[in-house]
Amino acid sequence: ICSKDVMSAPAITISEKATIKEASAVLIKKRINHLPVTDPSERISGIVTSWDIAKAVACGLERLEEIITSDVICTGPEEPIEKAAEKMSKNSISALPVVDRTGKILGIITSEGLSRLIGR
Ligand code: SAM
Repeated sequence: ICSKDVMSAPAITISEKATIKEASAVLIKKRINHLPVTDPSERISGIVTSWDIAKAVACGLERLEEIITSDVICTGPEEPIEKAAEKMSKNSISALPVVDRTGKILGIITSEGLSRLIGR
């Protein structure tokens, strides 16, 4: 089983030009916790999560770019899920964008998706 077999697709993403308020609204409306961030050419440039929004509130940060994690850890569509789960566990994160070799976002895998797979 590979990342592409368990990913949610298409991934809901947000532009790096968006505001924290816009990112928060998408997280709430779509009932998600992770938003891959895209650059003008629609390639991945980071990730923003509900944890980062909490940090913005706690620290009084106002601009989205101040809370984006730019060294985003990703998986490839053909990566075995054991390897993807190891990346999540080692980095204490609960989602990995699935990207192709050009950085185009194909979907996202989350610890929720992996639990669903194990639980079914
Ligand atoms: N790795 C952090 C550490 O060891 O301190 C803990 C993760 S922390 C609970 C949440 C942070 O992880 C947020 O800032 C979020 O942007 C980031 N994050 C979530 N998913 C990520 C991913 N796939 N790649 C890189 N950072 C990610």
